[in-house]
Amino acid sequence: SGIVAIVGRPNVGKSTIFNRIIGERKSIVEDTPGVTRDRIYGKAEWLTKEFRVIDTGGIQLADQPFREEINMQVEIAIDEADTILFVVNGKEGITNDDEYIARLLQRSQKKVILAVNKVDDFAQSDSIYEFYNLGLSDPIAVSGAHGIGIGDILDAIVNSFPDKIQKDYDGMTRFCVIGRPNVGKSSLVNALLNQERVIVSNIEGTTRDAIDTPFKREGKEYVVIDTAGIRKRGKVYENIEKYSVLRAMSAIERSDVVLVVIDGESGIRDQDKHVAGFAHEAGKGVIIVYNKWDAVEKDEKTMNRIEKEIRTQFQYLSYAPILFVSALKKQRIQTILPMIDDVHDASVLRIQTNVLNEVLMDAQLMTPPPTHKGKRLKIYYASQVAVAPPTIVLFVNDPELLHFSYKRFLENSLREAFGFQGTTLRILARERN
Ligand code: GDP
Repeated sequence: SGIVAIVGRPNVGKSTIFNRIIGERKSIVEDTPGVTRDRIYGKAEWLTKEFRVIDTGGIQLADQPFREEINMQVEIAIDEADTILFVVNGKEGITNDDEYIARLLQRSQKKVILAVNKVDDFAQSDSIYEFYNLGLSDPIAVSGAHGIGIGDILDAIVNSFPDKIQKDYDGMTRFCVIGRPNVGKSSLVNALLNQERVIVSNIEGTTRDAIDTPFKREGKEYVVIDTAGIRKRGKVYENIEKYSVLRAMSAIERSDVVLVVIDGESGIRDQDKHVAGFAHEAGKGVIIVYNKWDAVEKDEKTMNRIEKEIRTQFQYLSYAPILFVSALKKQRIQTILPMIDDVHDASVLRIQTNVLNEVLMDAQLMTPPPTHKGKRLKIYYASQVAVAPPTIVLFVNDPELLHFSYKRFLENSLREAFGFQGTTLRILARERN
């Protein structure tokens, strides 16, 4: 899917338009404790096409002149997005700063959609014509406040994405390596790429492929997707927390499997939980990599104790396998790719309907659903409706009767039967008509 970034001067209404675009999409995923939702990054859907939106206005430099800030925001938009949505204020007309931004965008050769906001009264939509002078695309009149013209913007966005974006790297396993600064992400990627039998290839593709690295091992193809700071060190904004979160999120979105790296030397921190929560919520395969194992003082009980601690701290990731490695000493690095394969396979596993129903029937015979207010849950039939993550719909008498604990029991029965190592399982209940 494509990525659109919103740029423009302060107060032109970028965030209002951002909120309109991502809408009130109700998530089918339960909330993960400890995950703060960052307002600069969202998912949107229009005419069955999904895409991501970045509001660069939310990424700010401390105490920097406006031009510095806008340079950074436009640069992030150009780096991260396929299409740029440039928002101007129809009530004010073209300002010097608008002209400045327009020139930066022209030089970028990215697709630009020009939204003239605050045209609240469409009788006055003639005011948009002066914006042709910016030398960009045809201006589109919108009112973020009233939600007018948002459909036109959405049309322009989905039409701007080349069709091939969807098909990049088909048949490959894409993964990324996320974690706090200095946990050893780059060391880990380098160790993986320097393994014997790994052949790093140059596959040409779209713009962002340049920072992703495709490689082959034993006939299998992988792409390691760049996250904050792994490859492109040295940009001023690299260390802005929101920007690294944004890069991690966009890398997670493009991955099949996410390696969550924890620094064994300093132990688990709250920030580790946030990062891991994103991967869980995105429904990606997850592997926990406990790095710097060489630097951990240990006896025969240490591994068990740490595993318990990880399970307590990351309760929602109970399905994620844990690997203890040392990127520096190249210890157990060779276990990572096979584990990535296993997790990717599990996340795209499709269970035959009859087999699925047999397993669920057995589970219910062993432990019948509890009654609630004198009513017992009846599961008539189950069907797997999606992979990555595997999503199972139960057709029931009353969805409200499917309580968390029974859902957990069914999930465990499915995991016992089919594995599903490293992937979340989504179980939804629908009323049978
Ligand atoms: P990143 O910011 O997550 O990419 O972390 P780096 O890969 O740059 O590593 C940060 C520091 O941790 C560097 O000084 C590395 O040499 C060190 N480091 C990385 N992996 C290991 C490891 O397995 N063991 C030890 N002892 N140090 C490591």
